[in-house]
Amino acid sequence: MEKQTFGVGERVEKLCVVCKEERGHVVASVTKRGQISRVDCPKCGTRSTFKSGVGLNGDNAAAKAGAPYDRTYTYRKGQTMTHPTYGIGEVTAIIEPQKIDVLFNDRVRRLIHARIQA
Ligand SMILES: [Zn+2]
Repeated sequence: MEKQTFGVGERVEKLCVVCKEERGHVVASVTKRGQISRVDCPKCGTRSTFKSGVGLNGDNAAAKAGAPYDRTYTYRKGQTMTHPTYGIGEVTAIIEPQKIDVLFNDRVRRLIHARIQA
């Protein structure tokens, strides 16, 4: 068994008190022992403290499947996708016209989008 530690930018399931729903949050800060101390809600932006052992349930993600990731498609914040390697993700931010941050099961990854075929 691996010791469960977390890093900033990883994904964790938590109940957001503002959105009133359990959803993937982004780890904003961790303690020296790798325990989550604060998380950000990607939907409403609320930063909250994290109590370990509460709501650690990754099964919810599988229930709402997004369409397959398509780099020529223009994504918007909040849309979901299914990436062939990383699985289901949710767009948390538009970084540049052709770059997006997507929150996957384990962490946020930067992908390209709106890539027009030459
Ligand atoms: Zn929220």
